Amino acid sequence: MALVSLSKILTKALNGRYGIGHFDVHNLEWMQAVLNAAKEERSPVILGVTEDAVSYFGGFSVPVKLAEALIKEMKLGVPVVVHLDHGSSVENCIKAIDAGFTSVMIDASHHPLDENIRQTKEVVTYARKYGVTVEAEVGSVGGSEGSDKVTDPVYADPIECIDLVKRTQVDCLAPALGSVHGIYRGAPKLDFEGMKEISQLTKVPLVLHGSSGLSADHIKRTIALGTAKINVNADNHLSFSKAVRNCLENDKGLYDASVYGSLGREQLKETIRIKMRLFGSVGKAIE
Ligand SMILES: [Zn+2]
Repeated sequence: MALVSLSKILTKALNGRYGIGHFDVHNLEWMQAVLNAAKEERSPVILGVTEDAVSYFGGFSVPVKLAEALIKEMKLGVPVVVHLDHGSSVENCIKAIDAGFTSVMIDASHHPLDENIRQTKEVVTYARKYGVTVEAEVGSVGGSEGSDKVTDPVYADPIECIDLVKRTQVDCLAPALGSVHGIYRGAPKLDFEGMKEISQLTKVPLVLHGSSGLSADHIKRTIALGTAKINVNADNHLSFSKAVRNCLENDKGLYDASVYGSLGREQLKETIRIKMRLFGSVGKAIE
């Protein structure tokens, strides 16, 4: 099965009231862990690739080709999306689309609304020609992404959300509603009322950034209120790093990277499988 567009699986998820996991990938082992989890749980899945990860992989085409090769070798048989996470410019979204990404996020949310709309519209126009899905953001997710400094969340305004969706025809929307990238400082304060209103006004699938550290109840509530794509990164880093750290601390003489690499990969896969069960995407890979 070739890579699919995000819209193809996201509309079904919204209608069926389940969430599809977007798992950021940073190298071969992470990609294998995500794809193996998807295979075992018969779940559709989104491989998230940030611009930092694009640099780490060595270019936009590398994660696409790697995903395609693994899907073929693993005889995967579940829908897979390769998605640009937090695309910082129209140019980078175009580069990703040209390299074969099947979904891109244009994150122009730090600009005034009109500029956010202008950039989002430009990406949507280009993406349409290739059947690629586009995600936009309104407001600001708190915490830190990569090397960014830590910031407080800025809650999305429902009126701005409907304005952006109408004027850009974007496929899905990440309204920042109190979630935080990385580790939460204090208890999360999600605006569920705002989420409900934005979902009803825009009618597009919503995206939750910063799901790590939220409770199972939080996650289930966001899905019930119209969230269909759930981004996971920090919890996966914690899981992978803990397994590798334990392994190396328990065997000081160990130097074979494939030993601790595969242990980390296995633990990561199990963490992702638990997420898929929580999101309700298990068994949804069937056409
Ligand atoms: Zn994010």
